[in-house]
Amino acid sequence: MRIILLGAPGSGKGTVAEALRSAYGFPKVSTGDLLREAVREKTPLGLVAASQMGQGGLVDDATVLALLRERLSREDCLGGYVLDGYPRNLAQADSLDALGLPGPEIVFDLRVSDAVVVERLAGRRTCPNCEAIYHLANKPPRKAGVCDVCGTGLVQRADDTPEVIRERLKTYHAKTEPLIARYSAKASLHRIDGDGRAEAVIREVRRVLEALLGHPDGAGH
Ligand code: ADP
Repeated sequence: MRIILLGAPGSGKGTVAEALRSAYGFPKVSTGDLLREAVREKTPLGLVAASQMGQGGLVDDATVLALLRERLSREDCLGGYVLDGYPRNLAQADSLDALGLPGPEIVFDLRVSDAVVVERLAGRRTCPNCEAIYHLANKPPRKAGVCDVCGTGLVQRADDTPEVIRERLKTYHAKTEPLIARYSAKASLHRIDGDGRAEAVIREVRRVLEALLGHPDGAGH
Protein backbone atom coordinates (compact mmCIF):
# COMPACT_ATOMS: atom_id res chain seq x y z
CA MET A 1 0.00 0.00 0.00
CA ARG A 2 1.54 3.27 -1.12
CA ILE A 3 -0.29 6.31 0.16
CA ILE A 4 0.39 9.77 -1.28
CA LEU A 5 -0.78 12.88 0.55
CA LEU A 6 -1.35 15.95 -1.60
CA GLY A 7 -2.28 19.32 -0.18
CA ALA A 8 -1.12 22.85 0.45
CA PRO A 9 1.43 23.65 3.15
CA GLY A 10 -0.47 23.51 6.43
CA SER A 11 -3.17 21.24 4.99
CA GLY A 12 -2.36 18.59 7.59
CA LYS A 13 -0.26 16.15 5.56
CA GLY A 14 2.25 15.64 8.36
CA THR A 15 -0.46 15.19 10.97
CA VAL A 16 -2.38 12.68 8.85
CA ALA A 17 0.83 10.80 7.97
CA GLU A 18 1.70 10.52 11.66
CA ALA A 19 -1.83 9.27 12.48
CA LEU A 20 -1.63 6.60 9.74
CA ARG A 21 1.77 5.54 11.02
CA SER A 22 0.47 5.09 14.51
CA ALA A 23 -2.77 3.35 13.41
CA TYR A 24 -1.38 0.98 10.78
CA GLY A 25 2.40 1.08 11.11
CA PHE A 26 3.06 2.56 7.65
CA PRO A 27 6.21 4.66 7.97
CA LYS A 28 5.82 8.37 7.34
CA VAL A 29 8.15 9.41 4.54
CA SER A 30 8.29 13.19 4.51
CA THR A 31 10.60 14.91 2.05
CA GLY A 32 10.32 18.08 4.18
CA ASP A 33 11.62 16.13 7.22
CA LEU A 34 14.39 14.51 5.14
CA LEU A 35 15.46 17.91 3.81
CA ARG A 36 15.42 19.54 7.25
CA GLU A 37 17.55 16.67 8.56
CA ALA A 38 20.09 17.29 5.77
CA VAL A 39 20.04 21.01 6.59
CA ARG A 40 20.63 20.33 10.31
CA GLU A 41 23.50 18.00 9.54
CA LYS A 42 24.95 20.55 7.11
CA THR A 43 25.54 17.91 4.43
CA PRO A 44 26.52 19.38 1.02
CA LEU A 45 22.98 18.70 -0.13
CA GLY A 46 21.57 20.32 3.01
CA LEU A 47 23.52 23.50 2.38
CA VAL A 48 22.00 23.84 -1.10
CA ALA A 49 18.52 22.92 0.13
CA ALA A 50 18.52 25.47 2.97
CA SER A 51 18.53 28.50 0.70
CA GLN A 52 15.83 27.07 -1.58
CA MET A 53 13.55 26.17 1.36
CA GLY A 54 14.05 29.52 3.07
CA GLN A 55 12.52 31.34 0.12
CA GLY A 56 9.40 29.19 -0.14
CA GLY A 57 10.29 27.59 -3.47
CA LEU A 58 10.99 23.95 -4.21
CA VAL A 59 14.30 22.22 -3.74
CA ASP A 60 15.56 20.92 -7.09
CA ASP A 61 14.04 17.64 -8.24
CA ALA A 62 17.30 15.66 -8.44
CA THR A 63 18.24 16.43 -4.83
CA VAL A 64 14.84 15.50 -3.46
CA LEU A 65 14.66 12.34 -5.57
CA ALA A 66 18.06 11.20 -4.28
CA LEU A 67 16.89 11.61 -0.67
CA LEU A 68 13.59 9.88 -1.40
CA ARG A 69 15.14 6.87 -3.15
CA GLU A 70 17.49 6.27 -0.27
CA ARG A 71 14.64 6.46 2.25
CA LEU A 72 12.30 4.17 0.27
CA SER A 73 15.03 1.56 -0.09
CA ARG A 74 15.10 1.00 3.68
CA GLU A 75 13.51 -2.12 5.03
CA ASP A 76 10.64 -0.47 6.91
CA CYS A 77 9.19 0.69 3.56
CA LEU A 78 8.83 -2.81 2.13
CA GLY A 79 5.19 -3.22 3.20
CA GLY A 80 4.11 0.30 2.24
CA TYR A 81 4.44 3.86 3.45
CA VAL A 82 2.82 7.26 3.49
CA LEU A 83 4.43 9.90 1.28
CA ASP A 84 4.11 13.39 2.76
CA GLY A 85 5.33 16.17 0.48
CA TYR A 86 6.23 14.14 -2.59
CA PRO A 87 5.49 14.49 -5.46
CA ARG A 88 5.22 18.26 -5.55
CA ASN A 89 5.29 18.88 -9.30
CA LEU A 90 4.61 16.95 -12.50
CA ALA A 91 8.25 15.97 -13.07
CA GLN A 92 8.40 14.45 -9.57
CA ALA A 93 5.22 12.47 -10.27
CA ASP A 94 6.90 11.12 -13.43
CA SER A 95 10.00 10.19 -11.41
CA LEU A 96 7.87 8.40 -8.86
CA ASP A 97 6.10 6.39 -11.58
CA ALA A 98 9.48 5.59 -13.12
CA LEU A 99 10.65 4.00 -9.86
CA GLY A 100 8.13 1.23 -10.69
CA LEU A 101 7.27 0.58 -7.04
CA PRO A 102 4.98 -2.35 -6.23
CA GLY A 103 1.58 -2.18 -4.55
CA PRO A 104 -1.56 -0.11 -5.05
CA GLU A 105 -1.24 3.65 -4.92
CA ILE A 106 -3.87 5.64 -3.02
CA VAL A 107 -3.84 9.42 -3.20
CA PHE A 108 -5.55 11.75 -0.73
CA ASP A 109 -6.03 15.38 -1.63
CA LEU A 110 -6.40 17.42 1.57
CA ARG A 111 -8.38 20.53 0.59
CA VAL A 112 -7.95 23.65 2.74
CA SER A 113 -8.53 27.32 2.06
CA ASP A 114 -5.57 29.69 1.95
CA ALA A 115 -6.95 31.57 4.97
CA VAL A 116 -6.85 28.40 7.08
CA VAL A 117 -3.29 27.70 5.90
CA VAL A 118 -2.07 31.11 7.03
CA GLU A 119 -3.70 30.76 10.46
CA ARG A 120 -2.37 27.25 10.98
CA LEU A 121 1.21 27.93 9.93
CA ALA A 122 1.50 31.14 11.93
CA GLY A 123 0.59 29.20 15.11
CA ARG A 124 2.56 26.06 14.27
CA ARG A 125 5.47 25.00 16.44
CA THR A 126 7.61 21.97 15.67
CA CYS A 127 10.15 19.82 17.42
CA PRO A 128 13.53 20.22 15.74
CA ASN A 129 14.55 16.80 17.04
CA CYS A 130 11.64 14.42 16.25
CA GLU A 131 9.54 16.65 13.92
CA ALA A 132 6.41 16.35 16.08
CA ILE A 133 3.91 19.09 15.14
CA TYR A 134 2.00 21.38 17.53
CA HIS A 135 -0.19 24.47 17.26
CA LEU A 136 -0.35 27.21 19.90
CA ALA A 137 -4.18 27.19 19.95
CA ASN A 138 -5.32 23.90 18.38
CA LYS A 139 -2.75 21.45 19.72
CA PRO A 140 -0.58 22.96 22.44
CA PRO A 141 2.08 20.74 24.03
CA ARG A 142 1.42 19.60 27.62
CA LYS A 143 4.21 21.87 28.85
CA ALA A 144 4.51 25.19 27.00
CA GLY A 145 7.39 25.25 24.52
CA VAL A 146 8.48 21.64 25.10
CA CYS A 147 7.93 18.55 22.90
CA ASP A 148 5.60 15.96 24.52
CA VAL A 149 7.42 13.15 22.74
CA CYS A 150 11.10 13.84 23.38
CA GLY A 151 11.32 16.87 25.68
CA THR A 152 13.20 19.08 23.18
CA GLY A 153 12.44 22.83 23.06
CA LEU A 154 9.92 23.64 20.30
CA VAL A 155 10.74 26.09 17.52
CA GLN A 156 8.91 28.02 14.86
CA ARG A 157 10.10 26.78 11.48
CA ALA A 158 12.18 29.32 9.59
CA ASP A 159 9.74 29.09 6.65
CA ASP A 160 6.62 29.69 8.79
CA THR A 161 6.91 33.47 8.50
CA PRO A 162 4.14 35.46 6.72
CA GLU A 163 6.22 36.28 3.60
CA VAL A 164 7.55 32.74 3.15
CA ILE A 165 4.08 31.27 3.79
CA ARG A 166 2.73 33.44 0.94
CA GLU A 167 5.50 32.17 -1.37
CA ARG A 168 4.88 28.54 -0.38
CA LEU A 169 1.18 28.95 -1.18
CA LYS A 170 2.06 30.43 -4.57
CA THR A 171 4.42 27.53 -5.24
CA TYR A 172 1.69 25.09 -4.22
CA HIS A 173 -0.93 26.59 -6.54
CA ALA A 174 1.45 26.85 -9.50
CA LYS A 175 3.36 23.57 -9.22
CA THR A 176 1.59 21.07 -6.98
CA GLU A 177 -2.12 21.70 -7.55
CA PRO A 178 -1.92 20.48 -11.20
CA LEU A 179 -1.15 17.02 -9.78
CA ILE A 180 -4.77 16.73 -8.65
CA ALA A 181 -5.95 16.45 -12.27
CA ARG A 182 -3.25 13.93 -13.03
CA TYR A 183 -4.19 11.64 -10.15
CA SER A 184 -7.94 12.00 -10.69
CA ALA A 185 -7.38 10.78 -14.23
CA LYS A 186 -5.66 7.71 -12.78
CA ALA A 187 -8.78 7.21 -10.58
CA SER A 188 -6.81 6.74 -7.38
CA LEU A 189 -7.62 10.14 -5.91
CA HIS A 190 -9.76 10.76 -2.84
CA ARG A 191 -10.70 14.30 -1.98
CA ILE A 192 -10.85 15.09 1.74
CA ASP A 193 -12.16 18.27 3.36
CA GLY A 194 -9.12 19.40 5.34
CA ASP A 195 -10.56 22.58 6.87
CA GLY A 196 -11.95 20.86 9.96
CA ARG A 197 -10.25 19.69 13.13
CA ALA A 198 -7.41 17.18 12.83
CA GLU A 199 -9.45 14.36 14.43
CA ALA A 200 -12.26 14.79 11.86
CA VAL A 201 -9.82 14.82 8.93
CA ILE A 202 -8.00 11.73 10.22
CA ARG A 203 -11.31 9.91 10.78
CA GLU A 204 -12.36 10.60 7.18
CA VAL A 205 -9.03 9.44 5.73
CA ARG A 206 -9.22 6.24 7.79
CA ARG A 207 -12.83 5.63 6.74
CA VAL A 208 -11.87 5.81 3.04
CA LEU A 209 -8.77 3.69 3.56
CA GLU A 210 -10.57 1.00 5.50
CA ALA A 211 -13.34 0.83 2.91
CA LEU A 212 -10.65 0.31 0.26
CA LEU A 213 -8.79 -2.25 2.31
CA GLY A 214 -11.95 -4.08 3.33
CA HIS A 215 -10.97 -4.12 6.99
CA PRO A 216 -13.67 -2.28 8.94
CA ASP A 217 -11.75 -2.66 12.22
CA GLY A 218 -8.45 -1.36 10.93
CA ALA A 219 -6.02 -2.46 8.27
CA GLY A 220 -3.07 -3.54 10.34
CA HIS A 221 -4.47 -4.99 13.49
P1 ADP B 1 4.94 22.24 3.83
O1 ADP B 1 4.18 21.15 3.15
O2 ADP B 1 4.25 22.72 5.06
O3 ADP B 1 5.39 23.35 2.92
P2 ADP B 1 7.28 20.55 4.12
O4 ADP B 1 7.90 20.25 5.42
O5 ADP B 1 6.62 19.42 3.39
O6 ADP B 1 6.26 21.70 4.46
O7 ADP B 1 8.34 21.21 3.13
C1 ADP B 1 9.12 22.32 3.49
C2 ADP B 1 9.94 22.80 2.31
O8 ADP B 1 10.81 21.75 1.85
C3 ADP B 1 9.14 23.17 1.07
O9 ADP B 1 8.70 24.50 1.11
C4 ADP B 1 10.17 22.94 -0.05
O10 ADP B 1 11.08 24.01 -0.15
C5 ADP B 1 10.95 21.75 0.44
N1 ADP B 1 10.39 20.47 -0.10
C6 ADP B 1 9.70 19.51 0.59
N2 ADP B 1 9.36 18.50 -0.23
C7 ADP B 1 9.80 18.83 -1.47
C8 ADP B 1 9.74 18.22 -2.76
N3 ADP B 1 9.11 17.06 -2.96
N4 ADP B 1 10.33 18.87 -3.81
C9 ADP B 1 10.95 20.04 -3.64
N5 ADP B 1 11.04 20.68 -2.46
C10 ADP B 1 10.48 20.10 -1.38
